[in-house]
Amino acid sequence: MNLKFLGIGSAFQTGLYNNCAYFIEEDQLFLIDFGETAFEQLKEQESFSDIKNIYVVFTHTHSDHIAGLGQLVDYCDTTLNKKLNIVVPMKDEDALKEDIGTLLDIFSISEDKCRFLTSSDIEGKFKTFQSIKFLKTKHSPELEGKCYSLMFETQKGKVLYTSDSIDTKYIEELVNTGFSEIYVDVTLSVPEVHLDFNVLKQIVPEELRDRVYCMHFDHPNTIDEARKNHFRIASSTAKDLSILPEEFEYERAGDKLILSNCGELTFMHLKNKNVLDGVKEVYLPLEDTNHSSVASLGSLLTYCYFLLQNLLYICTENKDVKEDMKSLIKLYGTPEESVTFKNNLPNEVFPLEQVERKEKRKHVGEK
Ligand SMILES: [Zn+2]
Repeated sequence: MNLKFLGIGSAFQTGLYNNCAYFIEEDQLFLIDFGETAFEQLKEQESFSDIKNIYVVFTHTHSDHIAGLGQLVDYCDTTLNKKLNIVVPMKDEDALKEDIGTLLDIFSISEDKCRFLTSSDIEGKFKTFQSIKFLKTKHSPELEGKCYSLMFETQKGKVLYTSDSIDTKYIEELVNTGFSEIYVDVTLSVPEVHLDFNVLKQIVPEELRDRVYCMHFDHPNTIDEARKNHFRIASSTAKDLSILPEEFEYERAGDKLILSNCGELTFMHLKNKNVLDGVKEVYLPLEDTNHSSVASLGSLLTYCYFLLQNLLYICTENKDVKEDMKSLIKLYGTPEESVTFKNNLPNEVFPLEQVERKEKRKHVGEK
C-alpha cells in the first residue's frame, strides 16, 4: 500500500506529529485516523491541493487519532463542497459510529455533513486495496472493546495496520501465513498500551523486517532502535508546524497556568515550548465545546493527569458545556477524575483585570 504519514509520533511526541496514515488515488484521499495536528499538516502540504473527495477511517477515539475530525468536516463542506466519507466497521458498527456521532455533536457539527459507509460499501472501490476488515484489538482500558486494528486485502497480499495496540496475535498470524506489509506502533517506555519493541523483535524474524513499518513513536530513540534492528520506519511527510502562529493565549502565575482555549494545536505548542514544565494547576475557562476550543484537550488532560500529576480546572457556569465536557472526556478515554469543574476563574489566582485583558486579546485574536 506504501502508506505515507502526516505524522509518526505518539500523543506526547508532538515534534513528530500525530500518527496518521494516508494514500492518494487520483483525486481521492484515504486517511487512517486524523488527530490534533493532522489538518494543519494536510493544509501545509502541496500534494493535497488537487484532492476532491476524502475518506477517513478511525481506529479509536483517542484525541491524537480523532481530534482533527471537526476541521476535516469543515474543510470538506466549505472548500470541497462534499460530505466527508467516514468508513465504519460492518459489524459492531454502533459503538464507534455512535461515538463519532457524539463527537460531532459536542463539536456542534451537523451529521449531515458526513456520509457513513461500512467496509462492505467500499469493497472494490480503490485500486490500493480491495477490502478492509476492522479487527477488535487491545489498547487502552478506558476504550475497551472500541479499539481496532485494520486488515487490508491488496493485490500483493494482506496489509495489517495495528494502530494503537498491545495485541500480538494478528502480527504472529501474518508472520506465519504471509503478508505484504505490516504497520505497527512500538514503544520502549509504555508497553501497557503500545507494543513493546522488544516483543516485536522476538515475533518478527530478520528476513521479514523490510516489510514491517514501525510507527507511533514516543521517542526519537525508538526510531534509531527500530532502524538498527532492520525494521522500516513509516514514511512521514510532516512539515514543521511549530512556526505557525498560536491561536490561543496563556498566562502563567507562579505554578498556575491559564489557557484561553484548547484548540487543535494548543497542546502541541504548549508541549514544544515547554510551557507545561513546573505547572501544578491548569485553568481553562470555557463558553462552548466547538472543536477550536477543546480539540486537543484529550492529550492535555492525559499529559497533566498521568505525567505532571497536576490538576486541570474547567471553569464554566454553563450546564450544557459541563455535560458535553463529561462526554468528551469519556470519548477521549481520559479518567473522569482528571478534570475538576469550577463555575468561575478564582480571583485569588488570576486577578480580575488580568483576565479581562486576556479576554480582550482572545477576541482580537479571533478576528
Ligand atoms: Zn490510542
